[in-house]
Amino acid sequence: MDKYFRVELIKKTENPAQTIYAAMHQDYSSSFVADEQNKWPSESKCEQVIINRLLKYHHYGPLEHPAITFNVGFFPHSVMQQARTHRVGISFDVMSFRYSSSSIVKAAQGKISIEEAFYVRPVGDYCDRNGKKYFYSQEQRDRDLDFCKLAAIYYEIMLSEGISEEHARGIIPFDVRQHWIVSFNARSLMHFLDMRWKKDAQLEIQQLCNLIYPHFYDWMPEIAQYYKETRGGKNKIAP
Ligand SMILES: Cc1cc2nc3c(=O)[nH]c(=O)nc-3n(C[C@H](O)[C@H](O)[C@H](O)COP(=O)(O)OP(=O)(O)OC[C@H]3O[C@@H](n4cnc5c(N)ncnc54)[C@H](O)[C@@H]3O)c2cc1C
Repeated sequence: MDKYFRVELIKKTENPAQTIYAAMHQDYSSSFVADEQNKWPSESKCEQVIINRLLKYHHYGPLEHPAITFNVGFFPHSVMQQARTHRVGISFDVMSFRYSSSSIVKAAQGKISIEEAFYVRPVGDYCDRNGKKYFYSQEQRDRDLDFCKLAAIYYEIMLSEGISEEHARGIIPFDVRQHWIVSFNARSLMHFLDMRWKKDAQLEIQQLCNLIYPHFYDWMPEIAQYYKETRGGKNKIAP
């Protein structure tokens, strides 16, 4: 895992399982469920009920009520592009290189390392989705970092000539690191993991999922565990 990749929690619905339970319970109860809050089961008991009465029957609607928001940091632009193909039950706000340029300028000036501004894969053996196998050497990686450094310097020159950020960004290497805020509900979170934690998703977005999953587990441990055992990393095709 790249040492710069980060996923930090911003905010999450408290008592998410009770929230899902309330939604499920209102589906079939003629009572006004808010009046029965003192009778709702504990979080852990609610998780068991959700697994047994909802997840096992693929009834996901009540899971759309609790929400969780993350700050994702230092991932390559390509991962942001892939993540943003998801558009249902998920919201993004992404650092735009239309306005922000300081990480690249700092890299050009040597104030931060080139690797903090640009993601370059580690040395190693790779195999892409189509079975293309190769070894990425230290020599190739150093050459790519040099290329990123040159691009950062060139970018800084363009800004110093008065060219706008939205114009100069066109020469930034593709895997510049980027930060964003993303919000999911519990259903869209599991769908995102379905699509992006599986082995034919790009390596780096799988790593994003590796960092998201512990937050899911902290939030709803039993549901997250059930998810991992039944769906996690499996090559589920989107319905
Ligand atoms: C391994 C991998 C490789 C990919 N490669 C490419 C690529 O090369 N190029 C590319 O452009 N994209 C690519 N994608 C993106 C992919 O095509 C989907 O756009 C993306 O994964 C979003 O998933 P989703 O459709 O489940 O959308 P979400 O927004 O996550 O939607 C959730 C669910 O809502 C339903 N839904 C959403 N929108 C609609 C709609 N308009 N009509 C009906 N039902 C809807 C579907 O059931 C969908 O599964 C790739 C995805 C993966 C996982």
